[in-house]
Amino acid sequence: MATATKTFRNYIGGEWVDAAGGETFESHGPATGELIGTFPKSGPEDVDRAVEAAKAAFEEWRLVPAPKRGEIFYRFGQLLIDQKEDVAQLMTREMGKVIAEARGDVQEAVDISFYMAGEGRRLFGHTTPSELPDKFNMSVRMPIGVVGAITPWNFPIAIPSWKLVPALVCGNTAVFKPATDTPLLGERFVELLDEAGLPKGVVNIVHGGGGAVGDRLVRHPDVPVITLTGSRETGVAVLRAAADNLKHVHLELGGKNPIIVLDDADLDLAVDGIVWSAFGTSGQRCTAASRVIAQAGVYDELQSRLVAAAERLRLGPGWEDGVDVGPVINRAALDKIHSYTGVGRDEGAQLLTGGEIASGDGLGDGFFYRPTVFAEVEPDMRIAQEEIFGPTTALIRVVDLDEAIRVANGVRFGLSSSIFTRDVNKAFRAMRDLVAGITYVNAGTIGAEVHLPFGGTKETGNGHREAGQAALDVFTEWKSIYVDYSGKLQRAQIDTEGVNEP
Ligand code: NAD
Repeated sequence: MATATKTFRNYIGGEWVDAAGGETFESHGPATGELIGTFPKSGPEDVDRAVEAAKAAFEEWRLVPAPKRGEIFYRFGQLLIDQKEDVAQLMTREMGKVIAEARGDVQEAVDISFYMAGEGRRLFGHTTPSELPDKFNMSVRMPIGVVGAITPWNFPIAIPSWKLVPALVCGNTAVFKPATDTPLLGERFVELLDEAGLPKGVVNIVHGGGGAVGDRLVRHPDVPVITLTGSRETGVAVLRAAADNLKHVHLELGGKNPIIVLDDADLDLAVDGIVWSAFGTSGQRCTAASRVIAQAGVYDELQSRLVAAAERLRLGPGWEDGVDVGPVINRAALDKIHSYTGVGRDEGAQLLTGGEIASGDGLGDGFFYRPTVFAEVEPDMRIAQEEIFGPTTALIRVVDLDEAIRVANGVRFGLSSSIFTRDVNKAFRAMRDLVAGITYVNAGTIGAEVHLPFGGTKETGNGHREAGQAALDVFTEWKSIYVDYSGKLQRAQIDTEGVNEP
């Protein structure tokens, strides 16, 4: 197994190979800076080889009966279960999230594997009557070809699974480019796919940066589908680069997710939901709650309970017992998060707790940031508008539900949203009026289940969804088939005897 050594390679056409240029980069754990491994710093030439392998494999893979393709993913799901603890421990070391969350990340991949394996026996299309006699109509899902899957580091097993498993079950082949902060987990993911029995060339991994590897994948003429999860800026660049070939582009981008707390809410429950959603994964989730919109009657009480809860959280390496909040991913992320504390102060928001890089107390050289709460935040402040992607949340005061919904919707993103209330009428108004791909009632902004569509409105994406049945629309094209068994030429809309006649 490639993980027995500390030097790793690309996987192209069923072979583990170095980058053509021979260059490498290192992956370091964010909690201690430990060296995780050395990986190929690939370039366009490596992408071209991987696409060639995937294109060749497509010709056979698309003809494997879909239920048989699905069976490989039952095996893959089982391998993930068998390896769950091992992969979760790797995740805690390489990416930093606390071990319970790392196990959850792997579990998402198990869930999607079993769900999509079943799709091998469904992949439902439609049959429908014809307007003409002796004619049969149906629509079927067709695979498209080579899928380029580009992923971030924050869900290093779950997100690749959300993309690659449905893509492959549908009969496509893939070239996978994981984030350079979590290459070992990408590697492990592909090793397990290989072990599950995927034929050579069906999945390929090419390590390296967005500029060299990602961009080549996006522009490659033999890659008709690109699925990217990343920042808004990367999404715009990818969409532009893919435009010349009119590729199918599926984008899952940023969020600025609100939790609304109304005067009648269960405050204990709301605080639990906010703490989990704002500070879980150190706030590095696309669905993190970076805004808390509180009605005036509960604002002060909520604020003091939230600050107390944030201050109780224990920072440390994710593998230690009792740690609630792990490190952020790297130095650049730490600096960016801290710079937003300065932005919030300069804008006149009130820093209630946190707002500093944490060190000492066994934190070593890790990239730790104190859970941070700003109060008296105005909806148009930058800390209430821009994605910080760290453990920072902003309290905004509103008078009623109408204002809460206006504020919640007043950002460019529309991924997740939540409301805490005991009033069913208000809950239903929020379900209808919050412009977001996901709304939770009496729960925080995180907790997606894989059999429902996942994704966002507005600038969180471009109208597609991951997971659930909706994912199949990204990875297949519809074909409509008309079978005329009348033995004569029948012209649609013309030879429709009796139809539309008085
Ligand atoms: P990022 O945009 O920096 O990188 C994402 C991936 O894109 C990486 O693999 C990177 O190498 C690659 N990339 C960068 N530039 C590229 C280019 N020009 N062409 C092709 N590929 C390129 O994002 P990140 O820092 O890894 O992740 C954090 C972001 O991801 C946040 O904005 C977060 O909200 C978002 N995210 C969204 C979801 C979702 O489902 N909506 C889920 C998780 C994370």
